[in-house]
Amino acid sequence: MSSLKRLTVLGPGVLGSQIAWHSAFKGKTVTVYGITQDTVDRCRTAHEQYAAVYRSELGAGDVDISATRQRLAYSTDLAAAVAEADLVIEAVPEIPGVKTAVFEEMAKLLPPHTLVATNSSTLLPSDFASATGRPDKFCALHFANMIWAMNYAEVMAHPLTSRETLTEVTEFAVEIGMVPIALRKEQNGYVANSWVVPMLSAAQTLVTNGIATPEDVDRTYLLTGGKVGPFGMIDMIGMKTCHNVLSYWGSVSGDAQMNANAEYIKTRFLDRGLLGLQTGRGYYEYPDPAFERPDFLAVPDIAVVPDLVTLMSPETEDPA
Ligand code: NAD
Repeated sequence: MSSLKRLTVLGPGVLGSQIAWHSAFKGKTVTVYGITQDTVDRCRTAHEQYAAVYRSELGAGDVDISATRQRLAYSTDLAAAVAEADLVIEAVPEIPGVKTAVFEEMAKLLPPHTLVATNSSTLLPSDFASATGRPDKFCALHFANMIWAMNYAEVMAHPLTSRETLTEVTEFAVEIGMVPIALRKEQNGYVANSWVVPMLSAAQTLVTNGIATPEDVDRTYLLTGGKVGPFGMIDMIGMKTCHNVLSYWGSVSGDAQMNANAEYIKTRFLDRGLLGLQTGRGYYEYPDPAFERPDFLAVPDIAVVPDLVTLMSPETEDPA
């Protein structure tokens, strides 16, 4: 059994709010830290939505939900938020400078025993190990969106992570109901994002370049048995994080298509305040997105053929 009873989550966004709620549901005492009251309030609202999801999908009862709420606290004071933490999980934006600044600020405030983990999707723990001021007590612990259903956690060391840290963090993952995925070496994107990010990028390229509609890309995925297609996934991940990943890796690699995909998400979504599932609109509208409707994958009425021919015709203006 791990000694990690008190968790602090930095960053109350899409993933941070899920990690916090889920860990509290599983019995951990959790403090959520956000830089503004507004972000913390949005996390509380998300937690009420998760309460409903945990009731309907996991069969949680009133006692479970009330105990979960009691184990949760919210703070905009970093020093107070980490003062008693056994483990801090960082889930701030996927922007290296933002993460480094948070780790450096926190390093001066942490109790000596506290372990630190990053939930970064595509960056390496060795990028931030020195900023934490405690490299031996630091590793990556990466969760998937919809943590309650996609219950795996990827654990990844950097060269200075101690064996004790890996033991405690992996035990913590098991205690909160995760299947631990052990990375044997550092890898940008761990196991899952090493294939998910290229898949989502390929799907986004088809739309950015005007080759196919998001709905048709998703149909090709869903008809092979998947539950949520690439554009449903992009909505779930959220446009901010997708844009951060594409623009950072686009600039690092000089990949023009990646930069075009980042620009597409910026102009079509971010500039219009459409952040994906969290704001009720991204590629799809929520609740009740089109891809969940029974007719989405049905063989259509033959009357739709002229519309499809218009889409395919070389005479039609290029949407790209
Ligand atoms: P998000 O934009 O939804 O949330 C980020 C949160 O961090 C926001 O609440 C923001 O206000 C807050 N924040 C910004 N600066 C901060 C600071 N200095 N201190 C504290 N909080 C700060 O992003 P997200 O999608 O939740 O992603 C967060 C991390 O989790 C990223 O590293 C991302 O790669 C990773 N992740 C995301 C997903 C996903 O599906 N969205 C899945 C796995 C991992």
